[in-house]
Amino acid sequence: GTLPEVERVHALIETAHERYRGLDDGKVADYIPSLGEADPALFGISVCGVGGQTTSVGDSTHPFSIQSISKVFVFALVCHELGHSEVSRRVGVNNTGLPFNSVMALELSDGDPRNPLVNAGAITTTSLAPGSTAAEKWDFVQRGLSRFAGRRLELDEKVYASESATNQRNMAIARLLQSYGRMHVDPIQATDVYTRQCSLLVTAEDLAVMAATLANGGVNPITREKVIDASVCRDTLAVMATSGLYEFSGDWLFEVGIPAKSGVSGGIVTVAPGKGGLGTFSPRLDPAGNSVRGQRAARFLSHSLGLDIFAST
Ligand code: GLU
Repeated sequence: GTLPEVERVHALIETAHERYRGLDDGKVADYIPSLGEADPALFGISVCGVGGQTTSVGDSTHPFSIQSISKVFVFALVCHELGHSEVSRRVGVNNTGLPFNSVMALELSDGDPRNPLVNAGAITTTSLAPGSTAAEKWDFVQRGLSRFAGRRLELDEKVYASESATNQRNMAIARLLQSYGRMHVDPIQATDVYTRQCSLLVTAEDLAVMAATLANGGVNPITREKVIDASVCRDTLAVMATSGLYEFSGDWLFEVGIPAKSGVSGGIVTVAPGKGGLGTFSPRLDPAGNSVRGQRAARFLSHSLGLDIFAST
C-alpha cells in the first residue's frame, strides 16, 4: 500500500504535534557549544510521500544542522560508489551497543569501525568518498546530500566553527583508525570533512524529502532525480534499522518498526519503504541523543498510518 491521502496525513501530523508539543522531557545537546543555543520549544513535523505529496506542521522550515543524520546519506552515496561488499568489509554493519563517539568500541574490535552510523564508521565512510583531496570529498558530500534534499544545502558556519573547536575526540578516533591501518587519507582532514557534513543546514521538510528518496528506491520524489540505486537504498535502510537510534536502536525498532536515524541537534529521519518519509525536529534529547518529541511523533504516525514493516495487517 501507499500513504493515505494527504488530507488524512495532515490531520494525523496535526494530532501528533498537538499531543507531544507540551512534552518537555529531555535536554538540548550542549557538548557542541553552539547547539546549546537551540530553542527547546521548536517542534516541526513533515511527511513526503513517494508520489511527491508533502505536508507539514509546526516549525517545519526552521533550519538546524543535520549532525548524525548526514551519516546515512554519506553512507548511501559511498555505498553507491564502492558497492555492497566493499563497504561491509571496510566499514561494517553491526551495532556497537555503545555511544556514537565511543573509543572503547573501536578498541574492543581491534580497530574495526563497526558500522557507518557511529563516528568511527562515519569518519571512515567519509574518507572513502571519491576524490583525491579533502576539497573534492567535501564537494562530493555536499552535492550528494543536496541531491537527496532536492535543493542546495549550505554549511552553518557557526556550528562548523563551534564543533571544529571542540572535536578532539573525533580527531582521536580518526587517529586511532589510522593506527589500526584503517585510514588511508589524512585523519585530520577526514574529520574535518565529517565535521562539515554534520554542519549542513536542513529543515524537517528537507528531512522528509531525503527520507522519501530512500523510501522511493533512490529517486527524489520532488525533483525526480535518481540519486542512488534501489539496491543501495535497501542496504542503507538495513543499517538504519540496526543502528539508527544510538543505544536505543532496539527499542525504536520494537516500538516503531521502521528504519530511522536521529542526530543530536534534534532531527530524526524515518523511512517507510515504498510509502514515504517523515522528518521531525525538536531539540530536547533522551540520554542517548534522540529527540524525545520526534520519537513520540514517529511512533504515533507509524501506528496510525500503518507503516510498521513487521506488522502482518
Ligand atoms: N557532529 C556530531 C559528532 O560527531 C554528530 C553527533 C550526532 O548527531 O550523533 O559529535
